[in-house]
Amino acid sequence: MISLDLLKLGEAIHGSEKEKEILSILEKRLKNDNKRIEVKTKEWVINNFSVKLNGKEVTSSLAPYTKGYVKGKVGREILAFPFPDHPFKVKDFYSYALSQGAEGIIFYEEGKIRRIIMPDVKIPVIFLPFKPEGYVEIEAESFLRDSTSYNLEFTIKEGDDYILLGAHVDHWLSGFHDNLFSIDVVLNSLTEVKNHGLKVVFFSSEEGPKCCTGSLQHPKDDIFTAIILDALYPSRVVYSSTPDLWDFAGLFPLKRIEMPTPFSDHFSFVQKGIPSLVLYNDDLIPYYHSDKDLPNSRDEKFLTEISESVKLLLHELDKLSMKDLNERMSKFGERKFVVDYVNLTTSFAISSNSLGPRLKSP
Ligand SMILES: [Zn+2]
Repeated sequence: MISLDLLKLGEAIHGSEKEKEILSILEKRLKNDNKRIEVKTKEWVINNFSVKLNGKEVTSSLAPYTKGYVKGKVGREILAFPFPDHPFKVKDFYSYALSQGAEGIIFYEEGKIRRIIMPDVKIPVIFLPFKPEGYVEIEAESFLRDSTSYNLEFTIKEGDDYILLGAHVDHWLSGFHDNLFSIDVVLNSLTEVKNHGLKVVFFSSEEGPKCCTGSLQHPKDDIFTAIILDALYPSRVVYSSTPDLWDFAGLFPLKRIEMPTPFSDHFSFVQKGIPSLVLYNDDLIPYYHSDKDLPNSRDEKFLTEISESVKLLLHELDKLSMKDLNERMSKFGERKFVVDYVNLTTSFAISSNSLGPRLKSP
């Protein structure tokens, strides 16, 4: 598994030299025709970071993209919270702490540090692998700077239009399942298609600011469907897709089917009207964006299983035209979605005939 080699490189922050190192390794590894597609992105640079607890330096991680200096007592100037049961809830603790006049925030969790993006950068926020007591001093200098990176595109088979199979390569901390493992799944899922072309794309900067992701900047004119692998974890998948592809969910070991979530690289394609899906698994939550997102004993078997499922999906999609997918879509509604960025979901847009199909008398 190439993911095990890439894991040794360590954290690959969006837009960084490490991200480009992963891409150049993949460039050498695949023999097919490839093309670099330039991406204007941001690199998060940590210039200086240290945390002292009662005068002693301790292991810690800085929350993107926070910065600043604070020295104070836990429970007074600095508020500490146990890491919540869902990573997306940290923003609520952040707002609460600010409302209480906190000058710094600590999230603690036994044996683990994380990188979860905060809603803004007013005060420094850190993650600690234990519950802190006493006096803490945080020094954090970090900033986002303009950077150029690239998506790496391989043409596996030429065609008039393409099925795109993709995964991002940038990752927070160890990032094994989010998202090095998906690189192996992509490489293992290559199969022969007849009617459409097939492209593989390794994306830059998925974890970075929404403005600047690699998938947003990727050319989409000749894309028939996009299949994205992101944060896979043994042994099942959340099938998050435009409804025209729901019929194929049964090809996978399934946790649930859902409307396309407005995160990950498939969403740039969804917003261009392209039938798209992302396969992920929120069973990863206990390790998500932490230094404990590491290989486990079930990965190898899961890699074989999921790659077989992706191959079957590619064969099924290859049999279809855009007209076929539009017909599948029209069973549900129009190809127009409303995005809820708070709950991270989408729903059908309400339009004049959106209730049409369901109100027909029997
Ligand atoms: Zn990811």
